Amino acid sequence: MRNRKGSALPVMEVVGTLQGEGAHTGRAACFIRLGGCDIGCHWCDIPSSWEASAFASWSVQRIVQQAQATALRCAVITGGEPLMYDLSALTKALKEAGFATHLETSGAYSLSGTWDWVCVSPKKNKAPLPALLTRADELKVVVYNRDDLKWASQNAKAISPHCKCFLQPEWSKRNYVLPLIHAFLNQHPTWRLSIQAHKFIGLP
Ligand code: SF4
Repeated sequence: MRNRKGSALPVMEVVGTLQGEGAHTGRAACFIRLGGCDIGCHWCDIPSSWEASAFASWSVQRIVQQAQATALRCAVITGGEPLMYDLSALTKALKEAGFATHLETSGAYSLSGTWDWVCVSPKKNKAPLPALLTRADELKVVVYNRDDLKWASQNAKAISPHCKCFLQPEWSKRNYVLPLIHAFLNQHPTWRLSIQAHKFIGLP
């Protein structure tokens, strides 16, 4: 259930690292990973994030202070599924502290907060809300099998003209799906490849 005030949030970690995926690949950023997700992707690489009660609840002030300690001023809010919570207070405090705010979400919950960049990664288990696809600056579809290419095209029908589109091989299936993605990109050149660069260089 969404914490309506969002004044305290379950935190997995607040850490400076490199964005490894999508439009901002290679950018140093402070990742704020919130615990809790009920989407249940069978290929999820962080199932430990699903149970929110496994993580300590931090005040917004503590989260921002920890983010400030990284010296980075781009905050990527991810999870888990961060939009299970009201992110208005967190993003307001981050903006006041001089952070750009980036969101990574499945899009299955309504949007809260103030964002400089919204990345929607739609999941078949719980489809994104149309309003999230319309708002997305980035559409990033994880490709586990051939059918996910249809899923990508289906979601792209609802995005805005400015939105950048990425196909990302699911890590364990990358050798199988990369040729499928390459063939798709040849036919649909507005899409781009995203390759989880952080995993290639050994970052979490
Ligand atoms: Fe894992 Fe993300 Fe899917 Fe949730 S939405 S199950 S965190 S991959």
